Amino acid sequence: MKMSKLGYFSEFLLFPLLVLFATLLAFRSSVSPSPAIWAVIYGAGLVGWTLIEYLLHRVLFHHAPVLSQIHERHHHFPLDLIGTPAWVSMLVGVIAVAIPLWAALGFGLATAATGGLVTGYLWYVFVHYATHHWRPRKNSYLYRARLRHARHHHLSNGGNFGVTTGVWDHVFGTALEGRTSKV
Ligand SMILES: [Zn+2]
Ligand SMILES: [Zn+2]
Repeated sequence: MKMSKLGYFSEFLLFPLLVLFATLLAFRSSVSPSPAIWAVIYGAGLVGWTLIEYLLHRVLFHHAPVLSQIHERHHHFPLDLIGTPAWVSMLVGVIAVAIPLWAALGFGLATAATGGLVTGYLWYVFVHYATHHWRPRKNSYLYRARLRHARHHHLSNGGNFGVTTGVWDHVFGTALEGRTSKV
């Protein structure tokens, strides 16, 4: 879905506030989690996101009905702000992520895992935006992300599915090497 800049970035305000609020509730409750375990689970959520990002892009964005058509538009018009409205990603996040994690880990640790996943997701939205709209300094992290993602757009859409990291492309053998003319 094509969006305004405000709509595109509203998640960056809304989601951290929700996670922060839930986390404060968790730590103020009588069964508050241990901060060290909370931090470990948060980190696991963050790392877990990078794998989810890879699979979402490789499997759903390129093969699922509707989603693949929306994503194809992004491939044709990479500068358009095509994203998910905040209320849709929030609904998906609560129903498919936060509630199952709550059931599995309890409220306190679910805020950690959800927080890690949300941080990873926002990092992905930011990096993806930057790869198309910014010209980062040579050899910086964003420069490498831009180069990696440009290969996905211009060399082959059968590889380089990772946006924030190329690790999973190396693990699953979909890394694209070589030069691209349009960076
Ligand atoms: Zn892109
Ligand atoms: Zn793609």
